[in-house]
Amino acid sequence: MTDRTFSILKPDATARNLTGKINAVIEEAGLRIVAQRRIRMSRAQAEKFYEVHSERPFYGELVDFMTSGPVVVQVLKGEGAVARYREVMGATNPAQAADGTIRKLFAVSMGENSVHGSDSDENARIEIAQFFDEADIVG
Ligand code: ATP
Ligand code: MG
Repeated sequence: MTDRTFSILKPDATARNLTGKINAVIEEAGLRIVAQRRIRMSRAQAEKFYEVHSERPFYGELVDFMTSGPVVVQVLKGEGAVARYREVMGATNPAQAADGTIRKLFAVSMGENSVHGSDSDENARIEIAQFFDEADIVG
């Protein structure tokens, strides 16, 4: 089992200057930010990243949104990082997210839900490799 997960602070979060506030929630939850970069995702990068959702009705909207402004890509480290971060993010739909979670605190809607986190160790490995070289992960 890996102790890493991949995180994205989405365009709705960077637009509202929430990078620091979201990072504070992540760090207070015991996850360590071991790599971080602010980027503008290309359409090709977003399409590839969300390929698993390509047949879903919201795919086009999702790719448009993820390329609409800066994002912060991160590698988080901690025991059971994948599951821990999904707890910290809260439910995909902010209306259903538990108190104290990032999405409950900050998300605007199901689409503009402030953060992404990997859903398995295997996907964490694949997603991290899409955005980071191993040498840039310092933990
Ligand atoms: P993420 O993968 O971003 O961490 P998640 O695993 O909670 O979130 P997924 O089911 O993987 O959710 O969906 C990926 C993303 O697609 C969601 O975070 C959300 O931004 C968007 N999305 C999911 N369902 C919908 C929907 N019904 N309408 C609009 N956008 C949606
Ligand atoms: Mg997902």
